[in-house]
Amino acid sequence: MTGKYSRQELFAPIGEEGQQRIREASVFVLGAGALGSSGAEMLVRAGVRRVTIVDRDIIEWTNLHRQQLYTEQDVIDQLPKAIAAEKRLTAINSDVTVTGIVADVIPQNVLELISGHDVVLDATDNIETRLLANDAALKLGIPFFMGACVGSYGLTFPIGIRSNQPCLHCLLETLPAQTLTCDTVGVISPIVVTTAARQVADVLKFITGAPFEPKLESTDLWTGNRAAINITSLKKPNCPSCSEEAIYPFLSARESMRTAVLCGRDTVQLSWPSSRQFELESFAQSIRGTVTKLIHNPHLVACESNGHRIVLFRDGRMLVHGTKDVVMAKKIAAGLLG
Ligand SMILES: [Zn+2]
Repeated sequence: MTGKYSRQELFAPIGEEGQQRIREASVFVLGAGALGSSGAEMLVRAGVRRVTIVDRDIIEWTNLHRQQLYTEQDVIDQLPKAIAAEKRLTAINSDVTVTGIVADVIPQNVLELISGHDVVLDATDNIETRLLANDAALKLGIPFFMGACVGSYGLTFPIGIRSNQPCLHCLLETLPAQTLTCDTVGVISPIVVTTAARQVADVLKFITGAPFEPKLESTDLWTGNRAAINITSLKKPNCPSCSEEAIYPFLSARESMRTAVLCGRDTVQLSWPSSRQFELESFAQSIRGTVTKLIHNPHLVACESNGHRIVLFRDGRMLVHGTKDVVMAKKIAAGLLG
């Protein structure tokens, strides 16, 4: 056997039949950062039919140590990640139709973006977009392969495979380390590759029809701690996102983050719904050392980061001073809050 996918077909659980199923599959990759780079590359090399990869960001120097699709020249050229990813992925395997889309995934466009794909691979960097994609994927009946990593710790969990399993909304209060981000505590590339590998292995199992038990898997590559947990018991019978009476709250603009450019102030205001609780004390702790001019009082946390003055109020509003660019403000917020 000398074909492009021969060594994958030789792997007995996939075989020629499994490879045919992989060739027919279309995957939506939500984010073209570290997990998106790594996961999309594996799927493109595996020979799926179609990959759509969406990202709102451009490539920066701080990305290169872990975002394997990109080069120094991409930073110099100030390329959007989705565009550079499409170019690189197409060069890797011309069998695959790759579409890069530069966009911020929001309630108004998420259903249209995701529909028509067989699976959604989570590679976003913030909980708002994850909850939005969780709702959209559940509404459309498309499995959502959640993945997240920070520091040396990574987490994966396939959602929407079985009706008796919890969704991300069910797990919201259970998941650890939601306020830690790569911009505050850093990240090492091995955990990116490990986390993406778990996600893609689960995607391949699902696509090829292999039996598999959706589990929440976590790994810390620095301490060596690992766990694979069956979390069926955490499904909430009345979950607004995955029960029979689901209303998919994050698809409605009311439950998603609102944004406003404050008139004449060169400031963007981001407002989270009341369901998102902020612990100002732990937020201040998590960003200490990565920002300057940090002020913390019972009402707010204020700081400076990359030339922007940022203020987070207890009621769930953040002001990002020094920009009128909503996407830039959301990116700064995601970097600090996750
Ligand atoms: Zn749920």
